[in-house]
Amino acid sequence: KELWQDVPLAPPDSIFKLTAAFKADTFEKKVNLGVGAYRDDNDKPWVLPVVQKASTHSLASQRVLSDTSLDHEYLPITGLALFTSAAANLILGASSPAIQEQRAVSVQTISGTGANHLAALFLSRFYKWNGAPQIYLSNPTWANHHAIFKNVGIEPVDYPYYDPKTIGLDFNGFIGALQNAPERSVFLLHACAHNPTGVDPTSEQWAAVADVMIAKKHYAFFDCAYQGFASGDLDKDAWAVRHFVEKGVALLVCQSFAKNAGLYGERVGALHVVSSNEETAGRVKSQLSVLQRSEISNPPTYGARVVSLILNDAQLFEEWKEDIRTMAGRIIAMRKELHRLLTEELKTPGNWDHIIEQIGMFRADRSGANERELQLHGNQWGAEQAAG
Ligand code: PMP
Repeated sequence: KELWQDVPLAPPDSIFKLTAAFKADTFEKKVNLGVGAYRDDNDKPWVLPVVQKASTHSLASQRVLSDTSLDHEYLPITGLALFTSAAANLILGASSPAIQEQRAVSVQTISGTGANHLAALFLSRFYKWNGAPQIYLSNPTWANHHAIFKNVGIEPVDYPYYDPKTIGLDFNGFIGALQNAPERSVFLLHACAHNPTGVDPTSEQWAAVADVMIAKKHYAFFDCAYQGFASGDLDKDAWAVRHFVEKGVALLVCQSFAKNAGLYGERVGALHVVSSNEETAGRVKSQLSVLQRSEISNPPTYGARVVSLILNDAQLFEEWKEDIRTMAGRIIAMRKELHRLLTEELKTPGNWDHIIEQIGMFRADRSGANERELQLHGNQWGAEQAAG
């Protein structure tokens, strides 16, 4: 009998299958609405000018990436310290009590996916589960979340989030789920620009969520793949995370630089675990190191060097913020223009305000499941799940 005879054939990943089909298609006006990656006015990927600069131009205080004296030695297990500490400041805020009190632990990961995985693995080993390990995921969520948690033996459970009737947040359903879940449940929260609906809670709603989480001793598993991409402002998009830290909700944050730095393929990200004191943080870090060692030994250098240069150089940081405003601004302008075309120009029946009320690259409508990336070119209302 052939060894792998009983291995079932898995279906190809729908998004990457679509991308392959897109590449093979010779139609001139083709548009790929599947993958969650930023495109410019010519439907092309955009290398951020600041990233180009960090790679090639000379900088006053720092090495540039083209510097031949940079070697290719291994990074420490937890990654490039200059990168992870600047990344923590970026999401938590430099004046965060968690940073001031040295109780935030940061580990460099294989982009946001790797951060989600390492965090899931850590929880599977060390979280004090109240019953069988399970995580509450918004309905809907980034499809990969289900697989990431199942992989480490944590059962995904849905919580109400999107309401197709209002094309907005099912806030009562969300709060109800938080209230009814057993104490110390783990809730995955999208820090901003919810994938795949583009529907985010308001700051008042976030504050109410934090209050229930404190009361029920729930754990907040923040996934932050779009900081800066939602509003164009890095601090604004970090509001929920910072509010939760201030309120003392137990939490971790998975951080990706794929979208906001346009470094998709370089796989640069971080996991930040906020503990209640410095001593606990040290123990958490020691175990994250053990897990990381067995999985990838140490993270890759290139993307971390690029982001570290940008975050640690005042001028480059300003230029990056400008690039982020360019991307977020275009996305917001696309929403406005699509809304204008549908309502004023085409006088399409119905209310289209959700297009300008939703945020980031994704959008949802009355059919709910048909989330897709927002691109103004073309009118292909396919049913692809937004991904990336
Ligand atoms: N979380 C969410 C919600 C996402 O949308 C994405 C990207 N599609 C990721 C995590 C991870 O992306 P990456 O691994 O490329 O950083």
